[in-house]
Amino acid sequence: MTSGGSHSHDGSAAGTGDGSLSSVEAYQSAILAAITPLAPASLELAAAEGCVLAEDVTAAVALPSFDNSSMDGYAVRAADVAGASKDAPVTLRVTSEIAAGDTGVYRLVPGTAIKIMTGAQLPAGADAVVPVEWTDDGIAQVRIRRPADPGNAVRYTGGDAAEGETLLSAGTRLRAMQIAVAASAGRKSVSVRPRPRVVVLSTGNELTEPGTPLVPGRIWDSNSYMIAAAAREAGAVAYRRAIVPDDPAGVLPALQEQLIRADLLITTGGVSMGGEHDVVKAALRELGTVTFRKVAMQPGMPQGFGVIGGDGAGGVGAKRGVPIFTLPGNPVSAYVSFQMFVRPAIAALQGADDLSLPSVRATLTAPVRSPSGRRSYLRGVLDGSKVTPLSGQGSHQIAYLGRANALIVVPERETRLPADDEVDVLVLP
Ligand code: AMP
Ligand code: MG
Repeated sequence: MTSGGSHSHDGSAAGTGDGSLSSVEAYQSAILAAITPLAPASLELAAAEGCVLAEDVTAAVALPSFDNSSMDGYAVRAADVAGASKDAPVTLRVTSEIAAGDTGVYRLVPGTAIKIMTGAQLPAGADAVVPVEWTDDGIAQVRIRRPADPGNAVRYTGGDAAEGETLLSAGTRLRAMQIAVAASAGRKSVSVRPRPRVVVLSTGNELTEPGTPLVPGRIWDSNSYMIAAAAREAGAVAYRRAIVPDDPAGVLPALQEQLIRADLLITTGGVSMGGEHDVVKAALRELGTVTFRKVAMQPGMPQGFGVIGGDGAGGVGAKRGVPIFTLPGNPVSAYVSFQMFVRPAIAALQGADDLSLPSVRATLTAPVRSPSGRRSYLRGVLDGSKVTPLSGQGSHQIAYLGRANALIVVPERETRLPADDEVDVLVLP
């Protein structure tokens, strides 16, 4: 998994409690170690996009399964048109026409031509196709102005894949291209690890549903919409649960209610560094299966991860636990945390490891600052090989987040970088 590029830092231990700082990598590894892939299911192709194959897909037949024409033109024997030129065209009688989808059996008589369409079966006895552009497009007979080599404009049986050949391997994520391959291989359904079902809950007494009036002291809930959208961007099926108030007695029941339909739970808020209002931390601490720690990064230092709702038995019939992330409440912190930790976890639920953000090198157009000992993920605008840090880097500054397309990675050991320095940049989805 990529975590921010080449400037890795492993000066801090994984950390098991609140005391020490975990490195980003150590925390990522701890998360992935706790995640087991979802069970495979058979899905029809139309529903399988974004899922990850749990089986190999092989070609039921050779691809193509018959010799056919790659152009509209005339099927011929190459030998019959070998002498054709602009000045001395070869004229052949056209005996019939084969359209794409025609399943009839045709045989080319030497010294004649058969009109043929793209994708139509090559008639027996023909070994080349003369494109219509090289001819007068004749109907009863055709004048051919150029010779065609044997095999010209012919797509041979098995030229794409042999019968039985593995076309897609288990572990492949099914995008449009791979869906097409499976369909071309004759598959109606495939065994896949499905898109994980993610439930997002936001906590906080200050939260108000967008679209309803705001009173002083309240804010509209953005996190639950943002994280659900981010989860969908990462290929999950995401549900948003209504706002959960800061009521210690209410948090666990709200989570438990979701266990039945969730492969992954995400909360935001309520995990700060202490205080009686940090209800998520207080409620989950009691379960003993969720660990809260500080990660050496900014934003996003306070993190919690664990597994809840399982019976711990393992094996057949055991109740599977649901991984839970408790993300910090500040929107920018929640967003960056999602990209660094939850995206790879969503991939792991599908038995894949392809969801880390792409990392590129770029030149800073302005200096940046960063706290010592923590890796900064600064919001920036990447334009070609240059990246411009945005001026608003506060964890609450959602408006600036909305202008970013990249995260500038400032290594733990750096406290400032000058303009023109080269940095790792994570490209946002
Ligand atoms: P907390 O982690 O609950 O202490 O929240 C930290 C900051 O994030 C506070 O300023 C909260 O108001 C803000 N915040 C928490 N949840 C949300 C949310 N769902 N949408 C927008 N801001 C939030
Ligand atoms: Mg809160």
